[in-house]
Amino acid sequence: MIFIDMQNELERISIVFGKKYHDEIVKLFWKEFNHISIGRFKALVDSILYQSRYYPTISDFIKANTELRFKEYEVEKKKVVDEINAIWPQKAVSQDKANEFFTALRKSLTTGVPFDGDKFDFALPNPAYNCKRCKDTGDIYAKHKVKTYTYLFACRCESGIKKQSTDVDRWNDKLFQHYDIV
Ligand SMILES: [Zn+2]
Repeated sequence: MIFIDMQNELERISIVFGKKYHDEIVKLFWKEFNHISIGRFKALVDSILYQSRYYPTISDFIKANTELRFKEYEVEKKKVVDEINAIWPQKAVSQDKANEFFTALRKSLTTGVPFDGDKFDFALPNPAYNCKRCKDTGDIYAKHKVKTYTYLFACRCESGIKKQSTDVDRWNDKLFQHYDIV
């Protein structure tokens, strides 16, 4: 997103709580959230407005962002299992195997332990991936080199573009400066 869009969103908080964020705090907001899309930041402000009784701090926003990621993750998880089972009904992925996969993924998202996706190639319909970045899932999980968070990006390939409805930033290879794909 761009700075002015973020400021306009913060203005919504200011109006509701009758208090403006100090410029220094706005700078910190920008530092923390400049990589996310305006759609997502709006969603965060909405969720904060739903929940907060008090003038929210940056850490309330960070918490809301993490909660939103986990909700998205649960939705993705269901979609992936449904897709696999639709493609290979005769080889429906066992619940155990799926749980193992998502436990490893969740662990990686919360602790930063690298996710060894190759161990779970069972989950992918096409082993000769058209797109090596996302292995044709359309999703790229990338860990920030400095912060510990793992972010979800949409891939630029066909599989990623099909998922345009999800409000996730699109991957570009310049991001390799700051992220490692996991
Ligand atoms: Zn891709």
